[in-house]
Amino acid sequence: MSGKAYDREECSLELTQRQQQILHLVQTQGPITGDHISELMGVPKPTLRADLSVLTMTGRLTARPRVGYTYNEEHELDSRLHLLHQMSVEDYLSVPVSVAETCSVYDAAVTMFLEDAGTLFVVNDGILVGVLSRKDLLKVTLGGGDTKEIPVTIAMTRTPHIISIAPEASLYDAAVLMVRHEVDALPVVNAHFDDAANMHVMGRISKTTITRAFVELGQKHTV
Ligand code: ADP
Repeated sequence: MSGKAYDREECSLELTQRQQQILHLVQTQGPITGDHISELMGVPKPTLRADLSVLTMTGRLTARPRVGYTYNEEHELDSRLHLLHQMSVEDYLSVPVSVAETCSVYDAAVTMFLEDAGTLFVVNDGILVGVLSRKDLLKVTLGGGDTKEIPVTIAMTRTPHIISIAPEASLYDAAVLMVRHEVDALPVVNAHFDDAANMHVMGRISKTTITRAFVELGQKHTV
């Protein structure tokens, strides 16, 4: 997972080492005066002035007369929520696992195991025509019959019922679609679903993608 969008955003939030030290001091010891920060850091107060104004102007710290500096917890939360909308599908998509529409249910199940994908995309000449989930395959298997003879087209969800997402959408948009339509994965396509004849699958976003991004978001400490 590249997390390109995240890194881009993080760069614009990047603070110098000294600014981070100040933030840490205020976070752990605030409210704290500028004099006290200067004393603890062993840096003259005039040198700290520019850093303190960057930190207050960007909302990370609040300065109160006669009280000192306090850490603004909400700023950190705001930055993270903002990042959630900045993480783009294009930067997090995984390789799509596809089978041809002539593929049998048996072969599709084998592909699902081998590729470790819970959702398969069914394509015809590179164009998306269906989506196959684990339960779709299970259901058709329970129906009996020779799964090597049954084509996946019997089991799949077809266009125009496929919920897809564009690469430029955000991971948040993808998560909303998956929750709203109760599906585990979305094909990332270079055309909208109303242009069904042209849906080339570029990738896959699954609930696992969202979980990974969520963990990444929690781990990265943005200040
Ligand atoms: P499972 O069926 O294994 O619980 P899903 O919840 O993803 O997995 O699938 C539920 C149903 O929705 C299945 O019939 C499947 O074909 C269909 N489905 C899965 N993904 C999509 C999608 N992106 N768009 C439309 N239908 C989908």
